[in-house]
Amino acid sequence: SDSHFPVPISPSHVDYSLHYPHFFPPADQVNCSKKIQFADIGCGFGGLLISLSTLFPEVLMIGMELRDKVTEYVKERILALRVSNPGQYQNISVVRTNSMKYIPNYFENGQLTKMFFLFPDPHFKEKNHRRRVISPHLLDEYAYVLGVGGIIYTITDVEELGEWMRSCLENHPMFEALTKEELEADPVVKLLSSATEEGQKVARNGGQTFQAVFRRIVPTS
Ligand code: SAM
Repeated sequence: SDSHFPVPISPSHVDYSLHYPHFFPPADQVNCSKKIQFADIGCGFGGLLISLSTLFPEVLMIGMELRDKVTEYVKERILALRVSNPGQYQNISVVRTNSMKYIPNYFENGQLTKMFFLFPDPHFKEKNHRRRVISPHLLDEYAYVLGVGGIIYTITDVEELGEWMRSCLENHPMFEALTKEELEADPVVKLLSSATEEGQKVARNGGQTFQAVFRRIVPTS
């Protein structure tokens, strides 16, 4: 249950020196004003973070994962990469948490530039839709932590969930879809179906995927 993992009482209580010691050496903490900009929600085994790490080496990123053992695995994986590639993979980390409850404890208003929801659990039954990580209510929270211009990336192999995520985003006043040209120009879009362990499994089985990529906007009244 939630009582088994600590939750920071506010974003200023997130210990950056623990997650990114290369950027926040203990004695130097106050001098670094970097903040986490990318969040991979339900990051699983961490494949996306690892791909993004070298693509955006100066951007701090975090994976949020509910399962304890999976989180520990990702921690070990990142530490091993840091050791075998000196100076690299210092910008990624992972935290065990329930993202449906604690996003505002981790991020300030407007702090994030990208959020990822890759192959989230589908929760098929109608009565379980409230457990979906994209919902009208949770989009309010994501709109709060994303800066204007920030992007939400979603992908799934479950058509019904894909339609659900797209329609939640389309109906939310603070998000607009990226155009076809924008999607093609964004190097991150290519990673959605290939970088994570779940995406690779779907690709191996020849499964179809459904993506929705939307930008945080200022609503027109
Ligand atoms: N994104 C990864 C990928 O594409 O390989 C993992 C996909 S997996 C199907 C969904 C992940 O979301 C699981 O690892 C699960 O533990 C995690 N998860 C589910 N609910 C969560 C929550 N409320 N907070 C954080 N993680 C959650």
